[in-house]
Amino acid sequence: MYSQSVPTGLQIQSQTPLAPLTTFGIGGAARYFAVAHTETEVSEAVAWAEDRSLSLFVLGGGSNLLVRDEGFDGLVLKIGVLGVETCGDGCFEVGAGEIWDEFVERVTRQEMAGVECLAGIPGSVGGTPVQNVGAYGQEVAETIEWVRAFDRKSRGWVRLDKAACRFRYRQSLFNSDEPERYIVTRVRFQLRPGGRPNLRYADLQLRLGDRQGLTLAKVASVVREIRREKGMLLVEGDSDCRSAGSFFKNPVVGLDRLEAIAAAAGVTPGMVPGWPAGVGLIKIPAAWLLERAGFVKGFGSGPARISSRHTLALTNQGGATCADIERLQGQIVDGVRERFGITLEREPVLLG
Ligand SMILES: Cc1cc2nc3c(=O)[nH]c(=O)nc-3n(C[C@H](O)[C@H](O)[C@H](O)COP(=O)(O)OP(=O)(O)OC[C@H]3O[C@@H](n4cnc5c(N)ncnc54)[C@H](O)[C@@H]3O)c2cc1C
Repeated sequence: MYSQSVPTGLQIQSQTPLAPLTTFGIGGAARYFAVAHTETEVSEAVAWAEDRSLSLFVLGGGSNLLVRDEGFDGLVLKIGVLGVETCGDGCFEVGAGEIWDEFVERVTRQEMAGVECLAGIPGSVGGTPVQNVGAYGQEVAETIEWVRAFDRKSRGWVRLDKAACRFRYRQSLFNSDEPERYIVTRVRFQLRPGGRPNLRYADLQLRLGDRQGLTLAKVASVVREIRREKGMLLVEGDSDCRSAGSFFKNPVVGLDRLEAIAAAAGVTPGMVPGWPAGVGLIKIPAAWLLERAGFVKGFGSGPARISSRHTLALTNQGGATCADIERLQGQIVDGVRERFGITLEREPVLLG
């Protein structure tokens, strides 16, 4: 173990364990590790890694990440750029290293609408545009105006507006079109002062009951409550939240396949749940496919198991390795493919 510094004060450490920096609590060490508190430190860290021909991985809150047991043979750069600035009515410029749920808490208390259903999602502000986080009928893309980032290709700073970010379901420029090209340092959000909450989800509507005098802070707190019950809120000592949230994306299939899927599940086509996903396409809940294929809550052996409260979350119940989680993932993917002919995709990023 050693630590060295470059001119601005960026501290480079070696052999840093990554498991404690992730919500899964799994994985080996980073050969090198640093926290960038400023944009200058971000560009310096990139140059430091390039000079040594090292791979660089950008870390936020580690909540959508599965680190391999062998660790990472490069530089892991944690983004610690902080600050929340107001830039007009409902407009906020936020450092990528800020904790997302603290920002949601702050703006919902100020009755700024647009992110209330995203309360309780773990991770950093900079991580939210990467997979266009979403929950309870809301997506972060709805409120992002632009993203400031370091472009590792041109080695310069860019401001990418919403259209340039190419947001889709759990996808964006940052994780799909140009993965690893951009390092996000600031995000500008345009919220709706005094706006009405988004109450598209039946679960949420039911829980809120009488809407008289309903505040955004109340909606956010009910969202956190629902999440807590499902093990989808980070709660100390709750092993069901030692995960990366939903492990599989909801697959999109052609409507022409609905009959075969229904037959494989032993139901009528009308009973297959789903949402329209473009012309001739339907998005089917991955959780439904898992359950119908026999992968129910609590499934698994040893410490790698499906959460006892959420079918889509693979969890580390204590001492699981990345290999354990990958074995469980393989078993589920194979089982769902055999039953329905659908290949599920992993949502979290695999590092190493
Ligand atoms: C209990 C639980 C519940 C969850 N619920 C939800 C949910 O409801 N909806 C949902 O969408 N997600 C959910 N997630 C997943 C996760 O919280 C989000 O994807 C989150 O936005 C990830 O942010 P992060 O800062 O933790 O990113 P990390 O896990 O650190 O990184 C994830 C990816 O983003 C990249 N990245 C991170 N920060 C930056 C940056 N500044 N610049 C460039 N790239 C960056 C990383 O390189 C990596 O590829 C959940 C996770 C958990 C553990």
